[in-house]
Amino acid sequence: MQCERCKALITEGEEKELHGQILCEDCYIDLLSPVKACDPWAVHSAKKFLEEQGNEPQLNQLQKEILELLHEQGPIDPDKLAEHLQLKKTDIERELASLRHMEKVRGGLRDGRRLVWIWDLD
Ligand SMILES: [Zn+2]
Repeated sequence: MQCERCKALITEGEEKELHGQILCEDCYIDLLSPVKACDPWAVHSAKKFLEEQGNEPQLNQLQKEILELLHEQGPIDPDKLAEHLQLKKTDIERELASLRHMEKVRGGLRDGRRLVWIWDLD
């Protein structure tokens, strides 16, 4: 059996299926993993998606809490955010990546520290 994406041979029984495609495990994980924050295509399609959704981004509870905290506290270290919300760093990073795609938060270095803040904040 062959992966339809990378053409690698797949051991019988180890193939995965996604959107009707037979995939090897690597491709499967690749396609399932969250989009990279710096991927302009992802930003583009997230925006397009939001436009189709009627411009009002669908925020999950966690994302709302993150935005609230950022509103209250100003620029904050993502680690602090994780601590504050009692979440794993990986969870926080995932939510921050989606929020960046929705142009709700930005991240960057301020005084040599990595911080995130509300998109509209100068
Ligand atoms: Zn593959």
